[in-house]
Amino acid sequence: NTGDSSAYLEGLNPEQRDAVLSTEGPLLVLAGAGTGKTRVLTCRLAHILNQGQAYPSQILSVTFTNKAAREMKERVGDLVGGAVEGMPWMGTFHSIAAKILRIHAELVDLKSSFTILDTDDQIRLLKQIIKAHNIDEKRWTARYLANLIDSWKNKGLLPDKISAGDSHSFADGKGRELYKAYQTRLTQLNACDFGDLLLHNLTIFQNYPDILKKYNSKFRYMLVDEYQDTNVCQYLWLRLLAQNSGGSSNICVVGDDDQSIYGWRGAEVDNILRFEKDFPGAKVVKLERNYRSTEHILGAASGLIRANQDRLGKTLWTEDKGGNKVSVMGVWDAPAEARIIAGEIENWKSNGRRYSEVAILVRASRQMRSFEERFITLGLPYKVIGGPRFFERAEIRDAHAYLRVLKSDTDDLAFERIVNTPKRGIGNTTIQKLQLAARAMGVSLETAVRELTKTDEIRGKARTSLKAFILDVDRWRKEAETLPHTDIAERILDESGYTQMWKDSKDAKSAGRLENLKELIQAMSEFPTLDAYLEHVSLVLDVDSGPKEDEVSLMTLHSAKGLEFPLVFLPGMEEGIFPSQKSMDENGLAGLEEERRLAYVGITRAREQAKIYFAANRQVYGSWQSSIPSRFIDELPPQHVEVESETGYFEQAGRKQSSDYVMEAASRFADSFEAAKSQRTSPGWQRYQENRNKNFGRAPKEIEGHAVKRPAANKSSNFKVGERIFHQKFGYGTVTETNGTKLSVSFEKAGDKMVLDSFVERT
Ligand code: ATP
Ligand code: MG
Repeated sequence: NTGDSSAYLEGLNPEQRDAVLSTEGPLLVLAGAGTGKTRVLTCRLAHILNQGQAYPSQILSVTFTNKAAREMKERVGDLVGGAVEGMPWMGTFHSIAAKILRIHAELVDLKSSFTILDTDDQIRLLKQIIKAHNIDEKRWTARYLANLIDSWKNKGLLPDKISAGDSHSFADGKGRELYKAYQTRLTQLNACDFGDLLLHNLTIFQNYPDILKKYNSKFRYMLVDEYQDTNVCQYLWLRLLAQNSGGSSNICVVGDDDQSIYGWRGAEVDNILRFEKDFPGAKVVKLERNYRSTEHILGAASGLIRANQDRLGKTLWTEDKGGNKVSVMGVWDAPAEARIIAGEIENWKSNGRRYSEVAILVRASRQMRSFEERFITLGLPYKVIGGPRFFERAEIRDAHAYLRVLKSDTDDLAFERIVNTPKRGIGNTTIQKLQLAARAMGVSLETAVRELTKTDEIRGKARTSLKAFILDVDRWRKEAETLPHTDIAERILDESGYTQMWKDSKDAKSAGRLENLKELIQAMSEFPTLDAYLEHVSLVLDVDSGPKEDEVSLMTLHSAKGLEFPLVFLPGMEEGIFPSQKSMDENGLAGLEEERRLAYVGITRAREQAKIYFAANRQVYGSWQSSIPSRFIDELPPQHVEVESETGYFEQAGRKQSSDYVMEAASRFADSFEAAKSQRTSPGWQRYQENRNKNFGRAPKEIEGHAVKRPAANKSSNFKVGERIFHQKFGYGTVTETNGTKLSVSFEKAGDKMVLDSFVERT
């Protein structure tokens, strides 16, 4: 029956339709960004249901996030006309595996009520185990062990499968033993960690073929999105489930090797390449028409990714000819970047477009703050996807609580928030006791602590800790009288053990939290005093953050996977930020190639316009550094790019600090390139190095072939000779000469400079 109800087939191109209709047997859809892979999956699901080929409960579909699962449910609902009743097996790998494990928990010695451990508990457990084995936990940290165990679990390895060599990487060969002890302890606690969910599934399937068979025939169809980001364990799990007893595995996976961006979490892009081997007779469908982006966006992205050696290579085309070129703009610094992008967004809105059509994609979440501050100032509605706003983040609120305690001995809320963060052995009972006493005496919590620790009301560990904490607070207050507010903040975070708490945490987000804490110090440095800063924060937090319809999306590139927006901003395209220095240092050329794929993901999110920015100066953790444009900018094919150069600023920066700028950049490069080189010598590497040498340290407008749109030279400035102006970097000065939009200014403090008029204000 292909009546009205299958109208969804009509919107598909022949290859897509082929993929949707080939429901029997294994199918791989391998295709570039925006070619309709997710759309194919959705239509396929709708088609299977519509044709009555399976009940919703017989289809297993894996999405990368829970949000994607919800969206897919809605889309399928739209396609088949009406809500889809219960798709119990649609979700992330973790959520589906947890569901299966609850059913068969006893087979791996768990009860179905098992708990999934949070990261704090995990670390605590590992600490105990390390201690019990008489290992120096300063040298061999629980966090490191946790990562190691995780990576083994991602590979599907139980302790007895760990080779001696692998085991050696922890405490002189004790890795395997500790892993084993950890698993035993988890079982005793009726608990498991995230990695165990799939691993236990594997154990069950391997040890109980009958159970596996049951699932093999239950899941008539399997669908997997973003297949390029599956790790070995997920792959093994899929492979076991997909063996159909009838001989035909109806598994459909869709992916794009160029968008593999989770290698750092154990994803193996090779899973795509192995698909045809594992599922003999698999059909492979390639989609080449991109429906998302204009010609220039697609051309820029395709050109960029061509610099990667490690790829299958594919053709992409679009009928959406013309449109705007991808723009690249150099700006002075992060606030300028935020100001210019916010201005662009306001233009977009005043042209009748919506905020929700706009996304800003950053490499690291700490880059978000300058945008948030600008948006708040302008009252421009925005949301942070995949996390709270900067000032609402837990670690930032904790840090603020410390600062508030520093400032005031009556801020009970702040005191309560941090008195046992990090954990100091001050439990809820103690805190309740303190609150009671404070109320009875009519004093603040802090005063109550001072009084009660003199009595026997509180004893033991809690008393010792409270006394020590109060001593710390007294010392900080004393130091705050003489130290700059940023120094004291850093000192408090370190001495309180707060930073260490996140260093020890195994939470995947803890590295980001530590970066945010550094960004907080940076934010503080923009205010003269602690009071001024805290005042600012309270105003910022006061902004109504209720749900709004129309908001700009701010998110990391990693969380932008699979999404699309008419207008996409990619700020911070600078060496060290993007590509990230950390991934190049840790993984050499492979790390660089993963960064490049991330850039490809970023550009291909755009439907109508992609705008790239780099700043000439970045204030990193409080100190200014000159930055140079990302090599990714050089790699964009010139015919698809337009450099809107505000590089008057860029050149100035180069002149101003040229010597240390070059020295520092050179040594930074030398290190990471040497590391990369020792790993691989390939034609791509050669090409890449030649390119880099050619372009090293040059402003993009000098780089061959880039179309440069300069601020029109004959456009005359609004400023007149003799006029007094203010410049955000150089301060007050008098205009001595005007040349188009350039001004020569004699600054009162900084001397004679050439500046752009758009960065200058009338006084
Ligand atoms: P990514 O690799 O980024 O995840 P994708 O391959 O999953 O991309 P989709 O998100 O499925 O691509 O599709 C990209 C856009 O193109 C969507 O807006 C989708 O609705 C549209 N699209 C896909 N196929 C067609 C088609 N045949 N006709 C019209 N629009 C289409
Ligand atoms: Mg997709």
